[in-house]
Amino acid sequence: MTIALEAAAGQLVEISGSLVRARTLAPISLGEVVYVGDERLVGEAIGLEEDLVSLQVYEDTSGLAPGAPVFASGGPLAVELGPGLLGSVFDGIQRPLAWLALHEGDFLGRGQQVASLDVDRLWEFQPSLDVGALVSGGETLGVVQETPALEHRVLVPPDCHGRVVDVASRGPYRVSDVVAHVATRSAQSPRALRLAHHWRVRQPRPSRQRLRSTVPLLTGQRVLDTFFPLAQGSAAGMPGGFGTGKTVMQHELCRWAQADVIVFVGCGERGNEMTEMLWKLPNLTDPRTGRPLAERTILIANTSNMPVPAREASIYTGITIAEYYRDMGYHVLLLADSTSRWAEALREISGRLGEIPAEEGHPSYLASRLAAFYERAGRVVTLGGRQASVTLVSAISPPGGDLTEPVTRHTQRFTSCFWALDKQLADARVFPAVSVETSFSASAADLAAWWHDSVSAEWGELRRQALTLLEEAAHLQNTARLIGAASLPDRQRLVLRLAEMFEEGFLRQSAYDDKDASCSPSRQVELLSLLLRYYHRALEAIARGAHVGALWDLPIVTTLLRAKSMFGDAEVHDLQQLSTVIDQQCGAVGRTPTSPSA
Ligand code: ADP
Ligand code: MG
Repeated sequence: MTIALEAAAGQLVEISGSLVRARTLAPISLGEVVYVGDERLVGEAIGLEEDLVSLQVYEDTSGLAPGAPVFASGGPLAVELGPGLLGSVFDGIQRPLAWLALHEGDFLGRGQQVASLDVDRLWEFQPSLDVGALVSGGETLGVVQETPALEHRVLVPPDCHGRVVDVASRGPYRVSDVVAHVATRSAQSPRALRLAHHWRVRQPRPSRQRLRSTVPLLTGQRVLDTFFPLAQGSAAGMPGGFGTGKTVMQHELCRWAQADVIVFVGCGERGNEMTEMLWKLPNLTDPRTGRPLAERTILIANTSNMPVPAREASIYTGITIAEYYRDMGYHVLLLADSTSRWAEALREISGRLGEIPAEEGHPSYLASRLAAFYERAGRVVTLGGRQASVTLVSAISPPGGDLTEPVTRHTQRFTSCFWALDKQLADARVFPAVSVETSFSASAADLAAWWHDSVSAEWGELRRQALTLLEEAAHLQNTARLIGAASLPDRQRLVLRLAEMFEEGFLRQSAYDDKDASCSPSRQVELLSLLLRYYHRALEAIARGAHVGALWDLPIVTTLLRAKSMFGDAEVHDLQQLSTVIDQQCGAVGRTPTSPSA
């Protein structure tokens, strides 16, 4: 962003926290970025009324006084897109936090006009277009090896079409260096293209075609991939009360999800948690490359102690960056923690604007804003002709764990996965605390063919059987509570026991278990298949008149409960051998005639 240093376009008349009002002296348009006061605090025009303009200021406004000047920037809120994004930590309006910390000794300095990308760094650019070529938006101009993990495709900006007049030869360039000129119909002189370009955050980047998603975005979490699978290019909401494991789950997804690029938006959560994340996460080892995870992650941090409007902007900054990497042909996962805090920011700004509140104090446009955000997820054919995707996972912190509150309810409408984290499970230290009863995935049917073709022909049937068992067990638990489990028929006692075995041997997955923190699709299917095999063999034994107690006591039961931590992804073959043990041990139960009970 460059600052217009000409005459002030407005003069402050009122300051109310992060919202200020100015009398306009020159035209300011809605959505335009402004600089407020002599410190030139960054803000955005969000309301126009005759000669008054309402501005949300992205920085601490203390010290501002009526009469202070307001300068117009001439453009809407935009992000700078180019090499150097990976590994960066930004605030909600893409100001690099490390730079600010260095220069201000604090998270955020005020009125600091800093470049988003490193202006001095040289990138080795390798052109891939020839002079005279006809190009259109989204095509690759050349490449830069941004990090060892990722090739950065320097794209012709989406709105640029024309003929290449010249293109830079291979060599080192800065982000602001011109690497090509394109003669366009609309302008007299050729348009200069640089390593980086700007894009307004509130406008989705265009793609050629939206695709139906039939490929899962694997997370390595059994309860998600097997029971509530996420499709590439879809969105998931993850509601859960305090301490139910939302943040840990998002960290796990950062590390293990099968995405090329991860954008993490820390939105309104506690500062110390975010600081910990900022230092911890980039130093984690990337299981894909063995190198630092930072080489394919971008962090956007707007903690609860930072100005509220920047929090509102942060998810747009995040999703625009995600779309940019999608446009290069990558699969991108955006994690937001949490959209409830984002909605609180929206509510606070709306309140200060004096808008009439709708449900629970939220503005009437809450639902449409959420819809517009989730709408930006998708699997697409990019303008450059590649298949790529943006997948969204947002944590929600419903007040009091109430899933009927507006943010949770609307999110449920606009997302295909709903991963409800359960307080009782978390209190019992059952992690991930995903409730099998309340969660759902509308993508399971679309993804069945992928599992069938790529992993196992059995997946759909095993999944159905397991879910049916768990559902039956949930009903039986109520009966068992009334009359005691011992009074139930043997088959029902087996179902209850199986549900416990599923919880222990399949659903529970510790983030801190070296072998089990992530689980490959084939190991998921194998674990599921073994548990169900035990169930069927045990049923046969019961039919033969076996006593259920004898089935519980088999050594294989203990093995099944521990198998997830005993056999890692590379040991699926050894895991498979357990099926013979199940057959042998269950087969022996009930074979020898027992004396009839009195
Ligand atoms: P939230 O963000 O919902 O408030 P956190 O993600 O901070 O909750 O989780 C709270 C605590 O629960 C963590 O510090 C950790 O001890 C435990 N926990 C959460 N998820 C897991 C997991 N998958 N494996 C092991 N422990 C977990
Ligand atoms: Mg949290």
